[in-house]
Amino acid sequence: MHIGPHLVAYAAMINIPWPGVSGAPARLQPLLLPLYRQAGIEVSLLRLDELHSQVSGNKLFKLKYHLEQAMSAGYRRVISFGGAFSNHLHALAFAGRVMGLETIGVVRGEPGYADNPTLRDAADWGMRLHFVDRRTYRCKQTPEVADRLRDRFGDCYIIAEGGAGPPALQGCGEIFDAFPAGALAGTGLVGLAVGTGSTLAGLVAARPEHCRLLGFPVLRGGDFLYRDIASQLREAGLADSAGWQLQLDAHEGGYGRVSLQLAAFLHAFEQETGICLDPVYTGKLLLGFNRLVVSGGIAAGTRVVLIHTGGLQGLRGMAKTLYDRRSAFRGALPL
Ligand SMILES: *Cc1c(COP(=O)(O)O)cnc(C)c1O
Repeated sequence: MHIGPHLVAYAAMINIPWPGVSGAPARLQPLLLPLYRQAGIEVSLLRLDELHSQVSGNKLFKLKYHLEQAMSAGYRRVISFGGAFSNHLHALAFAGRVMGLETIGVVRGEPGYADNPTLRDAADWGMRLHFVDRRTYRCKQTPEVADRLRDRFGDCYIIAEGGAGPPALQGCGEIFDAFPAGALAGTGLVGLAVGTGSTLAGLVAARPEHCRLLGFPVLRGGDFLYRDIASQLREAGLADSAGWQLQLDAHEGGYGRVSLQLAAFLHAFEQETGICLDPVYTGKLLLGFNRLVVSGGIAAGTRVVLIHTGGLQGLRGMAKTLYDRRSAFRGALPL
């Protein structure tokens, strides 16, 4: 069995009880939906969500080299940015605690948000939360804001929103190491949800020739990501390997929006497969992918791996909203 050497090193670094050290780092779970059988395709889900209970899914890979860089440059303090339900800040808070780094989370919104389950965890793990209004938040990447943060919080390693940047791309390329031995060889297409696009960019740089990539942006108007991902690759000094594409109609109204159909789909998918998806990322991936299958967009015989990038912590406190929305849905679901 194959274990990516870096994954093992990182696991030791943040003291992860790595599942099945004698086996593969992540489980590749076949999805046996009637829809896939009819289309003559084989689809599996790479369960990155199972790798660690708190450092969710792809964030484990996005943070790895950021934290390594911060530590090797001697920083004691890391600062980053996110929304009130940010999987990134949640993961960073936990990883920082385990690694003995101070963490500061700059959160878009009101101090009242500190009471939600995501930020309560982060604060319990020692993250200092600093709330800023939307306008300040929008300027967060400017040198002036960086200076002001350093004035206020002292010398610190700054990680861009969502954990983006060259170290994130390097870490996300290692998601391929998380495939069980031999599984990648037969895989023709890998699909994943896209926020900032750093995870996809890392995969683009590291992908084997035969393996195409399909990203599903979860925000509206995601076509800017074609340029943005290309420039993230350039900034990291990585080659754009082509062979990747975006499916732009899977956003369900925009970032954080939950359509009635999406709410109904999350429930039906869990009933059918026992697998829990989140409404912000992985739910939109599966719904968008299944619609594509229905419309004949995936050639028969294709072996597909979809990546479960995690994010389930964000579901807490959403049960009633999801119930109300799925109860109001009338219509068919692509399953
Ligand atoms: C952050 C996140 C993503 C998006 O990753 P990007 O690198 O920003 O595109 C996808 N899925 C989940 C569950 C996430 O938390």
